[in-house]
Amino acid sequence: MISTDNTTIMNKDFVKSFLDDPLYIQGIYNYCDRWCKKCTFTSRCAHYKLNAEQFSDPNSKNINNKLFWQKINELFKVTLELINEVIEKENIDMSKYDTKDVSIEIDKRKAEATNSECSVSANDYIDMVNAWFADSEDIVRQSEEMLILDTELEITNGRILANIKELKERLEVIQWYQYQIYLKINRAVEERLSSPEELKDSQSSYNGSAKVALLGIDNSLRAWEYLMFHFTEKEDGILNILVHLGRLRKKIEILFPDARGFIRPGFDEKLTNVMHEYE
Ligand code: SF4
Repeated sequence: MISTDNTTIMNKDFVKSFLDDPLYIQGIYNYCDRWCKKCTFTSRCAHYKLNAEQFSDPNSKNINNKLFWQKINELFKVTLELINEVIEKENIDMSKYDTKDVSIEIDKRKAEATNSECSVSANDYIDMVNAWFADSEDIVRQSEEMLILDTELEITNGRILANIKELKERLEVIQWYQYQIYLKINRAVEERLSSPEELKDSQSSYNGSAKVALLGIDNSLRAWEYLMFHFTEKEDGILNILVHLGRLRKKIEILFPDARGFIRPGFDEKLTNVMHEYE
């Protein structure tokens, strides 16, 4: 069925046709950094394709537009239907989860995760980055202005342009992971708290979440090092951030010793069943 924006209306069968298609790597989107623009797996990611298919109309991304809410509604409906299908198939008795005790337990776990040392430290990092950007508006603004000027007037030489582009990229990296590190580590702690002891192993989901947080930190540290080298007047502030982030990385590695070894679908495994070249 076609919707008002000329895309297919999302329903359970339509979504399942994506999820079941062997072209796509199962679950690859669960342990990525969601930076699709830079991802080499877009052609093998059902999440990306579904998004491109369903949210191609700019109105579908505009919160003030009816189409946005129509798409969100379709998405919720399909998600619920898929969950119900699993419940039915696995014969899961949901009544035991539908109690006040369970919701108290969930809230307790959430609070424990939020107050964990790693989450608190990752949250502090968010504030440190915001403070640094507020204090370094001049650098950010100058790089943007120079880039626009160069693109429009072609007044600078290639080397300067490359440097400005590189600076912009590093700033972008820092901002991309700034919040994600917190979200991923908070999730990893919560997932581990809710995992039954007998099911814990190196491929447990919490190790995947922790790994994504660690990789975000690795990338961010490299970006900060670049900034420190190029802006010596900002050295002290950047050094503080580097030390903080380095310590956070160590804490995560101690808390999740198996995280680095977690094999993320697609990214860390030898792929079979490749149906065409990656983009
Ligand atoms: S796997 Fe790649 S394409 Fe898919 S959601 Fe993640 S970043 Fe985007």
